[in-house]
Amino acid sequence: MPIVEKSLVEVDRTEKLEIDGIDVSGEWNTFLRSRVQAHLDVRISDWVKGQPQGETITRCWQCGTCTAGCCMHTDYGLTEFNPRYFIYLAQVGYEEELRKYATTVWRCVSCNKCVERCPKGVKVEEVIHTIGTYLEMTGAAPESPADRFDRAYASNLLERGILDEAALFRTYERLEGRKTPARDLLRMGLALLRSGRLHTGPLAHRTRGWKKMGRVLRENLEADERARRALAVSAAPPNGGRP
Ligand code: SF4
Ligand code: SF4
Repeated sequence: MPIVEKSLVEVDRTEKLEIDGIDVSGEWNTFLRSRVQAHLDVRISDWVKGQPQGETITRCWQCGTCTAGCCMHTDYGLTEFNPRYFIYLAQVGYEEELRKYATTVWRCVSCNKCVERCPKGVKVEEVIHTIGTYLEMTGAAPESPADRFDRAYASNLLERGILDEAALFRTYERLEGRKTPARDLLRMGLALLRSGRLHTGPLAHRTRGWKKMGRVLRENLEADERARRALAVSAAPPNGGRP
């Protein structure tokens, strides 16, 4: 492999030399300077492989087949979306570089072509999403509209064990600062009403036995949130992730 980082090459001596009439002058005894990559953080790959969807990350041998066949990278021309590279950065723990792709990793459309093609059985799509989750949990990526919707959805569902579509819609509009025209609201409301899917207002029914199930779900979500905070604290880079 050619050495491209010249600064890492140390030359013992440069000599002018001729052997049997042939000029063989040049640098002798070149070797690489020893160096320590102090900014790499193995906790990233440890965390990813410790998740049920991320455990196959260790199998990756960086062949690049996943990227070559990835529809986002190839068909849609999003060249910065590079699953092989994301995995590499997570494997070596190059967090500073990985954080630059905190939003891009979520452009995966879960087509699973990469999973079909990977010669090492890496569940690439799941690993990529786990890396994205790590970045999100450590605050590298701003909360996306999809995340805000998920939160609104969960808190709405926790109320009664059944979605109140109208309330969810109102909450989401408030979070996103949007205002849907009254005519569109009416049209959507009527469509939901006709399909029997409008469970709104104080008289709307609850899921039976929801008190107990709701408590279990709430406890799980709270545990999730605690894990998220703990990870954010333990993985926070000393300089706040700034390059
Ligand atoms: S195809 Fe599999 S082994 Fe090759 S780079 Fe992608 S994840 Fe790694
Ligand atoms: S699942 Fe995601 S990473 Fe894999 S090929 Fe499809 S878009 Fe690319």
